[in-house]
Amino acid sequence: MTAREGRAYPAPARIPRRGGPGASRRRPGGGSGDRGRAFRPHPRPRAGSRARAPSGAGRAGRRAATGLVFNIQKFSVHDGGGIRTLVFLKGCPLRCPWCSNPESQAARPETGHDPSRCLGAAACGACAEACPRGLVRARGEALAFDRAGCDGCGACVRACPAGARILYGREMSASAVLDRVEEDAVFYQRSGGGLTLSGGEPLSQGGFALEILREAARRRVDASLETAGAVAEKTLLAAAGLTGSVIYDLKHWDPVILSRTVGGDGALPARNLRALRAALPEAVIRVRIPVIPGFNGSLPDLLKTASLVPEGLAPPELLPFHRLGEAKYALLGREPPFRAEPWPPDRFAGLVRAFREALGCGARPGAGGRPPGDGGAPPGRRGFQG
Ligand code: SF4
Ligand code: SF4
Repeated sequence: MTAREGRAYPAPARIPRRGGPGASRRRPGGGSGDRGRAFRPHPRPRAGSRARAPSGAGRAGRRAATGLVFNIQKFSVHDGGGIRTLVFLKGCPLRCPWCSNPESQAARPETGHDPSRCLGAAACGACAEACPRGLVRARGEALAFDRAGCDGCGACVRACPAGARILYGREMSASAVLDRVEEDAVFYQRSGGGLTLSGGEPLSQGGFALEILREAARRRVDASLETAGAVAEKTLLAAAGLTGSVIYDLKHWDPVILSRTVGGDGALPARNLRALRAALPEAVIRVRIPVIPGFNGSLPDLLKTASLVPEGLAPPELLPFHRLGEAKYALLGREPPFRAEPWPPDRFAGLVRAFREALGCGARPGAGGRPPGDGGAPPGRRGFQG
């Protein structure tokens, strides 16, 4: 059964333009045809929010001296060759309901709160005292937090003695990012590794992403790019031209279903992949499909999605859906918009086997890569603390 035949995924609300006034939201919630899986709308940003847009969040491709980074993770061996440092940029034009990086989506700094680490308002309350906007208030033992007014200044995060406040999104320059990346230069030289730019959608901060990649090239650090391709073709080609390899996520063969589920132009990722292959025929492009129950997890859907991969590229890898990101929604005060059971290992292995046999080739399962949308660190440990 294809997703089109069997599932009624809800129409997503439109994604707010980064920092733009009057931003509207997609509504991924409300589906009825998915065996009880509930897609809920993402929280709507309040009008007049004082959250500031990052300076790197200008039009894709425009030079940006600084941008918003929400995590830098070292010693990855899954996202490009050798030992790599992953740099996660904040902001994404899509809203995949199964996203396990909810902290990556908004193109502004956000603050998370981890109650399991919090000492409590009565015993501590340092965050409430530190917030210059009075957004954190003690309510008995608990804390109340007005998230909409938060501009991510980080005062509460710095004041917290327990690491219970987490800042997602720190403004950095490309040079500062490369300084961090180059701390492990010795490992890149030995392993053939380097920097991998990820997100969110790293190219949603196109100007900043290009600055990072240019700086990497200037310092002779190998760079790789992870993208879902839902960006301007010009930005994608410019970025890919500065990298040694591109890891490209394809989600669904049907542009209508894709657009309805995650937002944006559903035909753009496949079109951009073709353009990328045509413009840079020598580029190393590794295509991955996140396999989501009820969305694209049938063999016919996977094969149709694989058919979008241009000739000459290796067949796509399949990455199994997981639930590792659910706890992070709670840190952000959000409900996960999608709930499903992860694939039973046997069933997923069977799906991969059937997929490979049908393609008559050696498409690899996702065992060698991070799960879809995984920013690579456990909940509460990503982002910046202090
Ligand atoms: S980051 Fe913390 S201190 Fe700064 S505005 Fe937000 S809640 Fe207040
Ligand atoms: S400063 Fe940290 S530990 Fe103290 S009340 Fe606030 S969140 Fe809890």
